[in-house]
Amino acid sequence: MSFMEKLYLPAILKGMAITLGHMFRKKATIHYPEEKRPFSPVFRGLHVLNRDEEGRENCTACGLCAVACPAEAITMEAAERQPHEEHLYREEKYAAKYEINMLRCIFCGLCEEACPKDAIYLSETFAPSNFTRKGFVYSKDELLIPNPKTDKEKYEQAKGSRAAQTKNN
Ligand code: SF4
Ligand code: SF4
Repeated sequence: MSFMEKLYLPAILKGMAITLGHMFRKKATIHYPEEKRPFSPVFRGLHVLNRDEEGRENCTACGLCAVACPAEAITMEAAERQPHEEHLYREEKYAAKYEINMLRCIFCGLCEEACPKDAIYLSETFAPSNFTRKGFVYSKDELLIPNPKTDKEKYEQAKGSRAAQTKNN
């Protein structure tokens, strides 16, 4: 070992040069949640249960999404629409209960593909973290899009651009 090597000076200077070099490079990280990266055009996020332009729920509780789901993440209970409920539900049947277990879901989008009523689509957001398993079982109230009749701004926000790509019935 030479005298300089014994002082460790070359190694220290080399290490500092590498550190300095990295300080002026573009950062790979961002300040989330203040900054957010744009999603890929094919990103599939949290599910949204859709309404029509009159604010009625599209879902008829036909169960096709649950059958198509490879993770068995969807459960629902159907109910008959009553005459005074025509402003709430688009068809004669509706989902009295609709749940998706996000811990089982693999965000494959097959439920959206299977739905004949444009009632469900995967949005551009994701399920936030939670401390309990139960918190990841999303109820119908949590999944339903805001009513365009009473809250147009939130409805448009929740709809996002992916909803425009889904099929219209
Ligand atoms: S995205 Fe796929 S796994 Fe998730 S609920 Fe829909 S069909 Fe099931
Ligand atoms: S979301 Fe669509 S496929 Fe699923 S039960 Fe409702 S109407 Fe049927």
